[in-house]
Amino acid sequence: MASSGSGAMEAAVSNFTTEGDEIAVIVGGKFGQRWQQINQAYLNRVHTLEVEWGEAVSPEKISDFLSDKPNCKAIFFQASETSTGVKLPVREIANHIRSHFRGLIIVDAISYLIAHEMKMDEWGIDVVISGSQKGFGVPAGLSFLAYSDLAFQSLSRRPRFYFDLRKEIANQKSGKSSWTPATSLILSLDKSLENFEAEGYENIFKHHEILAKATRNAIEAMGLELLAKRSPSNTLTAVKLPSSIDGKSLVTNLKEQFGTQFAGGQDSLSGKIIRISHLGLVDVLDMMAMISSFEMGLAMSGYQFEVGLGVKTALNTFISNQH
Ligand SMILES: *Cc1c(COP(=O)(O)O)cnc(C)c1O
Repeated sequence: MASSGSGAMEAAVSNFTTEGDEIAVIVGGKFGQRWQQINQAYLNRVHTLEVEWGEAVSPEKISDFLSDKPNCKAIFFQASETSTGVKLPVREIANHIRSHFRGLIIVDAISYLIAHEMKMDEWGIDVVISGSQKGFGVPAGLSFLAYSDLAFQSLSRRPRFYFDLRKEIANQKSGKSSWTPATSLILSLDKSLENFEAEGYENIFKHHEILAKATRNAIEAMGLELLAKRSPSNTLTAVKLPSSIDGKSLVTNLKEQFGTQFAGGQDSLSGKIIRISHLGLVDVLDMMAMISSFEMGLAMSGYQFEVGLGVKTALNTFISNQH
């Protein structure tokens, strides 16, 4: 579809639920809140499982949460919560709830795909969503939605217009789209997919795993704490900053002095964390540039640590995981 990722999120809500439906959402960050907001906007009855930002909720907890909500039509969550760097155990969650949960399992994998494997059919996921500008290395403007047979049978009769999946699917089956397609982006995506095929998906997942591991090792060597300690995503790493450092000015300074783009925290995490991406067209030397500039920025902000330890640790991780 021609939209950013949130368009496909909205399409999932408007097409697979109908007004007044009970649904469940897991909210452990900014994007979980988005599932909540879209469902509220469409007048669904929303049950929210609140999770502390940075924590990964266990499949058992989700199962418990759903156990007294037998009428829930769907559960919505993020495979990788980009605001905290947490990865949810998608396969284990599906496995755990499948036996007693009859609703749809709808997963926002916008920042998860390409960095991690996702076998939606085998794992029993009903809807998977992504967007062109994250792992696919294509500019923003294309969103993707994959659906199971169960999801297709569950298409609702709710009024909708632009994102009408029944119409869209019928059109795409005959090689057309409902509306004017974003042709330049589709051509760009075709090229990206060709490159992925040539490199091999196993290698791409491994590449992300090593970039993420090197980044996490570097951060810990510098004496800093990871926000997502238990279940970190290979998409990005969120780092807790010492209380003496203002995260917002650090992000600005790093950009001005070294041209490196970090992301700060959102909402309650604003100023308190810094997020480092390793998704998509990122290589080992890009990561080394990010870690070097982060070290310099921290040292110049007065944080006391052995400068160079992060860089050294990351280099050693890359060397021992040569790929
Ligand atoms: C980026 C992102 C989105 C939203 O995507 P837009 O393309 O900005 O609409 C939704 N969920 C997650 C997890 C994301 O990382």
